[in-house]
Amino acid sequence: MRPLIAGNWKMHGTLREAVVLAEAVRAGAGGLGADLLVCPPFLHVPPVAAAMAGGPVAVGAQDCHAATKGAHTGDTSAPMLCDAGATHVILGHSERRADHGETDAVVRAKVQAALAAGLIPVACVGETEAQRLAGEAEAVVRQQLAESLPDDFGGVVAYEPVWAIGTGRTPTEEDIAAIHATIRATLVARFGPAGQATRILYGGSMKPGNAKAILALPNVDGGLVGGASLVAADFLAIAAAA
Ligand code: PGA
Repeated sequence: MRPLIAGNWKMHGTLREAVVLAEAVRAGAGGLGADLLVCPPFLHVPPVAAAMAGGPVAVGAQDCHAATKGAHTGDTSAPMLCDAGATHVILGHSERRADHGETDAVVRAKVQAALAAGLIPVACVGETEAQRLAGEAEAVVRQQLAESLPDDFGGVVAYEPVWAIGTGRTPTEEDIAAIHATIRATLVARFGPAGQATRILYGGSMKPGNAKAILALPNVDGGLVGGASLVAADFLAIAAAA
């Protein structure tokens, strides 16, 4: 399937820098063999969506609330993201799970809210280093999939081992392929043909230097890129490797 390369800009940059980065990504996005998505911070979604309008690069957010509206100070709903020009939303990122105590149940409710609003959720799963060392990585990921994805799931799954995020360390190619095979089997068992068609992204220290090898692995249908997505040339080089 056509790969998806998604940039998770996290909490970086000024409004001006976001627009400059968006324009540089857009300028280099033509003729690639991958779909592109950039996910700026909430405040930067409208200007980045304006910069990407009519072009090939999709825009997403990094979180949303599970409710459509209401007394939720500081939060942003999925319908608001649609209104602002987003088509995707990253949900259940390990930094949200750690910083904001998001449980699988919370992530599932947010995924449902995103789907109801017409957004494509990018649902994240992945084990901690302690869980990997204990031999629990596959079980943890299976459990997160079971509990974070609703029965009507239609979207993207991202496998992001927590210990590989921002560290420069990645699992071995064998380990990535093994987890992605587990995720594929889990999705197919639960969702049938839709599970076969679901893109499974790898995330965690993906760089231009390792992207080609990782993206060539079976059941790796793209990447969720953090640090390297903040440099347009690096992000585009990863997309070119897909
Ligand atoms: P990284 O982040 O590429 O900087 O490791 C990936 C992510 O957290 O989505």
